[in-house]
Amino acid sequence: MKITILTGAGISAESGLGTFRSTDGLWAKYDLAKVATPEAFNRDPAMVHEFYNLRRKACIEAQPNPAHFALAELQRASPNVTIVTQNVDDLHERAGAKVLHMHGELMRARCVKCDRRWEAPVRMSAGDLCDCGAAARPDVVWFGESPYFIEEITHAVRGSDLFVVIGSSGKVYPAAGFVQIADKARVDTLEINLERNGQVFDRSIVGPATQTVPEWVRGLI
Ligand code: NAD
Repeated sequence: MKITILTGAGISAESGLGTFRSTDGLWAKYDLAKVATPEAFNRDPAMVHEFYNLRRKACIEAQPNPAHFALAELQRASPNVTIVTQNVDDLHERAGAKVLHMHGELMRARCVKCDRRWEAPVRMSAGDLCDCGAAARPDVVWFGESPYFIEEITHAVRGSDLFVVIGSSGKVYPAAGFVQIADKARVDTLEINLERNGQVFDRSIVGPATQTVPEWVRGLI
């Protein structure tokens, strides 16, 4: 069975990384328009780096949870499992999975000009430069920028037997539109979330990812 899985911030919530819409923690303290747009970086790179430095530190201190490990196990058991994540943390990889990071990676840096990419230091600063002399930025996709791997992901969703969304509110596009793409292609759809996100799926499993995801994977393999 070909399965495409889209994960969101909810899968890393129980590892201690706040979700986008958390009312406490890092996300509540910052105005997203001031830290997650190219305009914000042009205006105040030090402030944007500080926000991502704090997120990178939180990511380094966090550990993958049973939901990340279960998906890695599913991928090892079947060569036909594609995992796409909206998350910029590296918890899927640290659990042993291979994932497509459609919104980039906190642990990577890139040049604003020549698109060269490299491993990010724990702390980036406004003085960090690429070899070409242009500024270095976190390799994350900001509002107003195009997510990575869209063609590859759309192709995988359309060619799947099952499309699964785990821990995502379905509010950030284009990821939020994958379920409609799956539906149009007559692909079976499943939502695994803390609470139903309001989008239309064929089936839903409700509860914390650390319980629901390992249970669902056990039922498959
Ligand atoms: P979101 O914050 O909008 O929604 C999180 C979803 O996860 C909600 O539907 C919520 O009900 C669910 N959830 C919360 N705790 C859960 C749990 N324990 N188990 C299962 N589900 C749980 O996140 P999103 O839809 O991924 O979109 C937000 C954007 O913010 C994405 O683009 C993402 O890149 C970014 N983001 C990433 C991280 C990260 O990398 N860890 C963290 C926060 C935000």
